[in-house]
Amino acid sequence: MGSLKYIPGEGSLHADIVFVGEAPGEEEDLQGRPFVGRSGKMLEKWINEFLGLSREQVYITNAVKVRPEGNRAPTFEEIKSWTTSLWEEIKYIHPVLIVPVGASATKAICGEDFDTFAPYRGKVSLLGGIYAIIPIYHPSYIRRAPGAEKLVREDFEAIKGYLNEYNKIRDEG
Ligand code: URA
Repeated sequence: MGSLKYIPGEGSLHADIVFVGEAPGEEEDLQGRPFVGRSGKMLEKWINEFLGLSREQVYITNAVKVRPEGNRAPTFEEIKSWTTSLWEEIKYIHPVLIVPVGASATKAICGEDFDTFAPYRGKVSLLGGIYAIIPIYHPSYIRRAPGAEKLVREDFEAIKGYLNEYNKIRDEG
């Protein structure tokens, strides 16, 4: 059986970016915090290196708030059962950009199931004309994919490009 421990999101409530992961893993379950294990350290490093931000300056949460048994990926049914509360959380932060980390988070945010994640990653889309999203590869995928640093760099270039454009338009307006 999976864990019954609820792992809430954390970070700045005024964050411009909300990162949404899949679900807590073993370390997250132990510490009661999102993205604090191996994947979390990697994500934190990307946020520092590519965006020049600390983890405290963004908001980090998960699509599913309890650890699925055996570290399996959550089913689409499970993902859907958490989306109302996930959107309440996101609306409270009201970020400039939502970054789903990996396929499960992208399914949660887009509300649709799919087989192949690659067409979604690194691309900006506007949800309901309000929320910009740019899905990125999950650290657990990047760890296993040879030459994956290039993919990470591309994903974060897309994020930086969007934020620069947004800030430019805001400053001009
Ligand atoms: N992977 C996730 O998607 N979320 C976490 O919190 C940890 C690992």
